[in-house]
Amino acid sequence: MPAYRQGAAPTKPGYKLSSNENPFGPLPSVLEALQRRADINRYAAAAMPELRQSIGERFGFTAAEAADHVHLAAGSVAILYQLVHAAAGAGDTYLHAWPSFEAYPALGIASGAEAIRVPLTERAEHDLEAMADALTPNTRVILLCSPNNPTGPAIRRTDFDRFMERVSTDTLVVLDEAYREFVTDPGAVRGEDVLRQHANLVVLRTFSKAYGLAGLRVGYGVGHPRILAAAASVAIPLSVTGLAETAARASLMPQAQTESAERIAQLIERRETLMSELRGIGLDIPDAEGNFVWVPERAERDARDARGGVHRGVRSAEALAAAFSEAGTLVRPFPGLGVRISVGEAESIPVAVGIVRLHVQSG
Ligand SMILES: *Cc1c(COP(=O)(O)O)cnc(C)c1O
Repeated sequence: MPAYRQGAAPTKPGYKLSSNENPFGPLPSVLEALQRRADINRYAAAAMPELRQSIGERFGFTAAEAADHVHLAAGSVAILYQLVHAAAGAGDTYLHAWPSFEAYPALGIASGAEAIRVPLTERAEHDLEAMADALTPNTRVILLCSPNNPTGPAIRRTDFDRFMERVSTDTLVVLDEAYREFVTDPGAVRGEDVLRQHANLVVLRTFSKAYGLAGLRVGYGVGHPRILAAAASVAIPLSVTGLAETAARASLMPQAQTESAERIAQLIERRETLMSELRGIGLDIPDAEGNFVWVPERAERDARDARGGVHRGVRSAEALAAAFSEAGTLVRPFPGLGVRISVGEAESIPVAVGIVRLHVQSG
């Protein structure tokens, strides 16, 4: 099996736009809270009731309900593994769109479950009709990524509702909303709005992206207690550290919320600039609802137009990523598919646009 490969670290001074990280440093209030927590000679108490409560409240759960409707883990990627392991073994399958989050294809390897990929639509969105058509009695888990990493579009609420009508209530549906805080489309699905209607739905969120705590490893799932208990039964105990708990709690305090909302607004503004500048070059950039923008490789049928100077996509994802790397900036290539550019520092936006423009114009 191919091992997980992390986005490369920069070797020259430049920008790291390869892992959808938050370019802002930690919030001062979060750093202060971390500095006050010194009891790292002790195991953290795993229950973490205050953190579960403040997460649960956002989904309309009482403090008592939050205890078993919220599941914490060392990153939401850990919960993806737990859910697939708990629900799907040898002879079972799980379904996901492609291209989507790079961790999905490998989630079933250890348990023996087979991953079934359903290609995105031409607009780089989940093809929910095709996904529903692909369901079989062996499908145990469906992974939906909204907004979709790496292509950007969010799943629409109406499409989600129609899809759920076709899914059996004993098939687990995971709505992976790692980038929900960046979504601006009012028609997009939102975990809080749909969770209560579906006992077979788990919503995943993380502190890694919008909250800028990627290095501390803390994410969560919200859903039915029996499903979350199954996830917990295959989890490695005590993986969420006390420091991660402290940082996550501090991030949900009102002051920190105001400050991070301001940062998120800035990142959204940069995303819109990056998207419209790249569209201005003529590229077919899908709607970006996360903190990243997708530059597609051009389809065969567009090659002729490209010779005439019309560029809907780039010739080669790998060649574009190499051009970025030459310039000291890192992006994430998906060979044969496209390149994902994370929204980083303000100064990185014109740099990224410049590199893409030069690359497209030189063939
Ligand atoms: C980054 C990401 C995650 C997981 O992030 P964690 O750091 O493990 O919380 C999950 N899903 C998607 C789609 C992501 O891009």
